[in-house]
Amino acid sequence: ERKEPNYFGAGPAQLPTSVLQQAAKDLINFQDLGIGAGEISHRSPAGVEIVDNTKAYLKKLWHIPDTHEVFFLQGGGTTGFSSIPTNLTASFAKKHGKAGKPAYVITGNWSSKAREEADRLGFETQVVVNAKAVDGKFGDIPDVSKWNIPKPEDTPYVYYCDNETVHGVEFREFPFDQFKGIEVVADMSSDFLSKPVDFSKYGVVFGGAQKNVGIAGVTIYIIKKALLDYPTVGELRKLDIPIAPIAFDYPTVVSKDSAYNTIPTFAVHIIELVLERLIKNGGIKNQEQENIKKSNLLYSTLEKYPAIYNLPVSKRARSRMNVVFTLKDKSLDAIFLKEAAAQKLGGLKGHRSVGGMRASLYNAVTYHSVELLAQFVENFAKEHQ
Ligand code: PMP
Repeated sequence: ERKEPNYFGAGPAQLPTSVLQQAAKDLINFQDLGIGAGEISHRSPAGVEIVDNTKAYLKKLWHIPDTHEVFFLQGGGTTGFSSIPTNLTASFAKKHGKAGKPAYVITGNWSSKAREEADRLGFETQVVVNAKAVDGKFGDIPDVSKWNIPKPEDTPYVYYCDNETVHGVEFREFPFDQFKGIEVVADMSSDFLSKPVDFSKYGVVFGGAQKNVGIAGVTIYIIKKALLDYPTVGELRKLDIPIAPIAFDYPTVVSKDSAYNTIPTFAVHIIELVLERLIKNGGIKNQEQENIKKSNLLYSTLEKYPAIYNLPVSKRARSRMNVVFTLKDKSLDAIFLKEAAAQKLGGLKGHRSVGGMRASLYNAVTYHSVELLAQFVENFAKEHQ
């Protein structure tokens, strides 16, 4: 039991109370088996059913076409930073006989980190654009005219982060037309299932579960099946291409239906329950509408008090998931957070690298919670202007 939280943490984040109540029961005794969902074998019929249902719900809810496969890995979003270059260069090498040069669109710290990891692993990367180099700071998506579009014959993939959680920068639409013949890879850790996505345009979409769809411990991947054909390990070695650890080798994991090694079955079950609820509540378009409504309310309230609040992200790139704002008078930061906490509005402190505030409005954050926050933002501004 708990009172409905008003929690705006960036991740791990709030989940629907009804889901957690069901999950709590299932942790102790799943489907009357006399044993819990975290205790059953991932190869038992009940364990396999959890994975299969979760995949099926995700495909249905997010309209994932049969050209694409869904699978789960442990390791978090960060594992994607390493597994994407190792796997997609292998896939590229099958056709082109070389790793090629992974290309990165950098619009905040998470895409920066992804590129750094590809470099660290020994890949030669190309930077399509670095928003910080263009504007002096992160907070916008530079116009495509300023991007260096890579050549398809050299480029195993172009990588971008659909929603930069720390900087509050989100793509409305990636400029796919500029990248004909190149696989597009998106990190959707922090806007996973927050809006419809046209998967036919993507090679890979991945995201950690712990913001919009579950608890930490699972990363969800959606991959174009045609990308699962690799050269042998011996051939990759000859080409000097770093080899993915076996538990993060996509074709291996897909061929074992996400159970090559032990999958966090309970964490996947929570995703299953979240998806079930989303389907019942009217699906992805409904969720998107709700997310638009929530973020519009908060942004428009903040905009009413320009003497008090600063919105550092350019309007066209504003995230619907992570509303970043600062107080013009920094000495008010601590008071803002303290007064918010007194009203049970939690998780508002901005990331240490940006400062200020960040309100994360993930799927499970209700419109009512955002109304309470908007009211607080308004009252605080009136008190201090
Ligand atoms: N990508 C994005 C967009 C994120 O927000 C995060 C985590 N906040 C990560 C990747 C890294 O995820 P993890 O901590 O699960 O490795």
